[in-house]
Amino acid sequence: MLAWPAVPPRIKALLLLTWAVIRTIFRRIFSARSDGLALFRENYAADRLPPVAPDERAELAEFGRCIACGLCDRGEAARIAASRGRYRGVMPLMLAASRSMPDFHAAQLSFAVVPEEVLAEKEARCPTRVPMRKIARFVRDKADELSQSLPPPPPTGRKRRKPAPEAERL
Ligand code: SF4
Repeated sequence: MLAWPAVPPRIKALLLLTWAVIRTIFRRIFSARSDGLALFRENYAADRLPPVAPDERAELAEFGRCIACGLCDRGEAARIAASRGRYRGVMPLMLAASRSMPDFHAAQLSFAVVPEEVLAEKEARCPTRVPMRKIARFVRDKADELSQSLPPPPPTGRKRRKPAPEAERL
């Protein structure tokens, strides 16, 4: 039998490549197919990152059109004051709060302060036509999804100590 070191390098490379291909094919055939979405949730739910569907990904491209002109914040002073810190105006929502999925629960609380019809009016006046209602819907949906896919919180309750027997307390 030909010793492995005596095999010409090209043949050795070819044999290794063939072995890798055969092994990959067999692994694909015989290993259980894993659900990519479930795997994604398993890996990223704790980081508060929900999966994004292809149509949602297409919408995301429109979400970054805000040029920070501040027009949509006009007339929001009363709502900002009444929100007691929950809401800082429409522009911050369009510029920042809706960009980071892990923070969507906070953004959802903020969006809840502005009625849908107000967003519709501001959307019509926005110079770059930022789709404000679409963004609000996306944030709400993803925040709800996050609540559903999050792993259960770790047990927080401290164990109650048993009262010491009377003799130890004295
Ligand atoms: S009006 Fe439009 S472009 Fe201007 S700050 Fe608001 S969202 Fe941004």
